[in-house]
Amino acid sequence: MKPIELAWHTWSVIPESFARAFLIEGTERALLVDTGAGDTDLKSLVAELTDKPVDVVNTHNHGDHMAANDVFGDVYMHPADLARLKEPGKIKPVKEGFVFDLGGREVAVIETPGHTPGSISLYDQRSGLLFTGDMVSKDPPIYFIEGDANAEDFAASLKKLRSLDKPMFGAHDPTVNGRETLDKLLETLALFVAGKIAPVPAEGPMPADLYISPNGTGFRCPKRP
Ligand SMILES: [Zn+2]
Repeated sequence: MKPIELAWHTWSVIPESFARAFLIEGTERALLVDTGAGDTDLKSLVAELTDKPVDVVNTHNHGDHMAANDVFGDVYMHPADLARLKEPGKIKPVKEGFVFDLGGREVAVIETPGHTPGSISLYDQRSGLLFTGDMVSKDPPIYFIEGDANAEDFAASLKKLRSLDKPMFGAHDPTVNGRETLDKLLETLALFVAGKIAPVPAEGPMPADLYISPNGTGFRCPKRP
């Protein structure tokens, strides 16, 4: 259960968790991309990695990415997702072009709606890595939740990420993804929207239908109670 160093002063903090968090450290501050599902003591893990003040940016407003928000410094999220929180509290809005200056290191906000209206990706210019939240995953399938997800936005964001062409880390897929995964997801999304993938029931905490395309990528659609 040790953090994995992905690049210089850049870690996957809780690699074996259901939802991972990533820590990026500059000379002045550190930035935590998401704060997990609450299944680990994130504060202690982060304290072992950095003694800098730690701010949080949430890739979107799902509970499995925000569990430990309260134990760090400032928290940031896109306004489209912030508006949908019951208690936005102290969370600050960030949009496309906002840059976190960590000291000798800048991390830029890139709007990538689709999984939720306010989903963002974070681009760390120093390592060249992109952190994509729940927008990119080869396996497991990506949650596509009625009322949250939008197929048109999803396709546009996948194309935007493809044009950036950077190594990508998501919250649930333990591997690094690239252009090939984006092409597969675009193909799968088109089949899914066209009704060309037969759903398979999936068990779990939230009963759901799985839509897996022949290329292996897919979506998990929770059923309404
Ligand atoms: Zn999510």
